[in-house]
Amino acid sequence: MKHLLTGVLSISATLAIAKSPNVIYVFPDQMRNHAMGFWNSEGFRDSVNFTGDPVITPNLDAFARQSKVLTSCQSNFPLSSPHRGMLLTGMFCNNSGVSTNCVANRPVSDLRDDAVCISDVFAAAGYSCAYIGKLHAHHPTPNDPDRPGKYVEDIVPAWDAYTPPERRHGFDYWYSYGTYDVHKHPHYWDTQGRRHEISQWSPEHETDKALAYLRNEGNVRNPDAPFFMMVSYNPPHSPYRSTEDCPEDAYALYAGKTLGELLVRPNADTTMTKAPSVRYYFASVTGVDRQFGRILNALDSLGLSDNTIVVFSSDHGETMCSQGTNDPKNSPYAESMNVPMLVRYPGHIAPGIDTQLLMSSPDIMPTLLGLAGLADSIPSAVEGRDYSARFMGLEGGPALREGTLYFKNSDGAKDSLGNVVSYFPVSRGIKTARYTMALTLDKKTRSLKSILLFDDIADPYQQHNLPAEENMEIVSQLCALMVPLLKEADDPWYNERILPDLLPYD
Ligand code: CA
Repeated sequence: MKHLLTGVLSISATLAIAKSPNVIYVFPDQMRNHAMGFWNSEGFRDSVNFTGDPVITPNLDAFARQSKVLTSCQSNFPLSSPHRGMLLTGMFCNNSGVSTNCVANRPVSDLRDDAVCISDVFAAAGYSCAYIGKLHAHHPTPNDPDRPGKYVEDIVPAWDAYTPPERRHGFDYWYSYGTYDVHKHPHYWDTQGRRHEISQWSPEHETDKALAYLRNEGNVRNPDAPFFMMVSYNPPHSPYRSTEDCPEDAYALYAGKTLGELLVRPNADTTMTKAPSVRYYFASVTGVDRQFGRILNALDSLGLSDNTIVVFSSDHGETMCSQGTNDPKNSPYAESMNVPMLVRYPGHIAPGIDTQLLMSSPDIMPTLLGLAGLADSIPSAVEGRDYSARFMGLEGGPALREGTLYFKNSDGAKDSLGNVVSYFPVSRGIKTARYTMALTLDKKTRSLKSILLFDDIADPYQQHNLPAEENMEIVSQLCALMVPLLKEADDPWYNERILPDLLPYD
C-alpha cells in the first residue's frame, strides 16, 4: 500500500512539475542598460532621462515590447564575480562567499559550497538545470582534470577555473569555464569534465549549445521536466580592439561612424585612447543581440515560448569613455551599475515599463523562483527580495526598496604566501530614484576619503559631483537610508560601525 501511495504521489508530483515554466536567464558581461536600441524608440524614450546608445539590437527591441522592462536594475557590486555570487545565492557579497573578483591568489573570494543557489532550488523542484558560458564565481585551484595538480592555465596567478561536478550546485548539464577573454578561441569544460577548444565567437558557440539543449540533442535533459538554463555570454567584454573580438559584419555596421556619432553620452570623452574601441563594443552588443534572437526563435519553433520565462540582463555595465575613467566597471556611475532587466512570461507578465522598481543583484534569484511558483522554496538565508508579484501585477509582495546599495571591496590581509585572505570594504554607497552617493574610505585610517554625490534627475549624466559640505541634508538622508540596508546585507560597515559620525547606526 505504501508503495502504491508513493507511486500515486510521484505521478501527481510529476504532473505538477510538468506544468511548471521553463526558465532561461541570458546575461552578457559588460552590457550597460543604455546599450539597447529600443530606448530611443516610441514607448520607451519618454520613460528614461538618457539617450540610448546608437546600437542596432532588433531582437532585443522586439523582445522588450513583449516583456516587463525595468529602467533601474542595478548591479550592486559592478564586477564579474561579486555580481555572479549575488545572482546565484540571492545573498549580498559578504555572505555569498564571493567578496571580490575570483583569482588564484584570492582564496577570500569563492562561491560557498554550502550556499543554496538558485540552481539547487530548481534542481530540488525537479528541474533539469544547465549552465552554459562564463561562470567566474569560483576560486581557481590546481584541479585541471587533464593535468592533475595544476591550474587550468599557466598564468600566475591563474584567473580561469574548472568547476568540478561536486561544486556545480544542481546544474546537471555543464558547458562552462571560469574567465577567459580570447573571444574567438574560447574553451569549455563539459558535464564530464572534458575540455573543448573552439574556434568560433563565444556567444555564437554558446548559443549553438543552448539550442542543442533546447532541442534535447543527446538526451541531455529530462524531456518530461521543466528546465532552468543560464547562458552567460562573455562579450561584450574587453578586449575590444579588432574583429577578433566581435563579428566582422556587426563591426561593419559601426565602422563608418565617427566617434562623436557613437559616443553620444555628453559625459563621454571621445579623445580617450580607448574611444575607437566603442565600435567593437557596439559590434559585440549587436552580435549578442543576434544570438539572443536565435534562442528566442528556437523557443518559438519548438513551441516553448508560452511556457518559458525568459530574462535578459547582464553582469554590470561599461563606462566606455564616460566619466574619464579607463575602468569599464567597479564604479558607482550609471554606465557601470545600471544593467538591462527584461522579463518575458507570456500570459503572466504584462509587457510594459516599470520605472519604480529598484531591483538589484540579490533580488534576481528569489524573484525568478517566485515567478516559477517556487516562492515557498526560497532559502531563508536569501537577502534579496522576491518581486515576482509585482512583475505579475498581483497584490502583495515585499515593499519596494527606496535605495539599493553600492559595494566596492579591495584586498585586505595577506598570508605568508601572499594570498589575499580578507577583503577591505573600501567603498559603500546607495542608489535611489533621485541620487547616487558613494563613500570611500582611506584604507590606513578607515576615515572618509571622498564622497561622490550626484542628483540623477537634475544631472542624468552625473557630470556635477555635488559638494558634500553644501549638501549635508541630502548626505544625511542618504546615510540614514543606507544603515538598514547595510544591516540587511550583514555588511562589515554595519557590523564594524564604519564612519559612525556619518552613518546613524542603531
Ligand atoms: Ca564582468
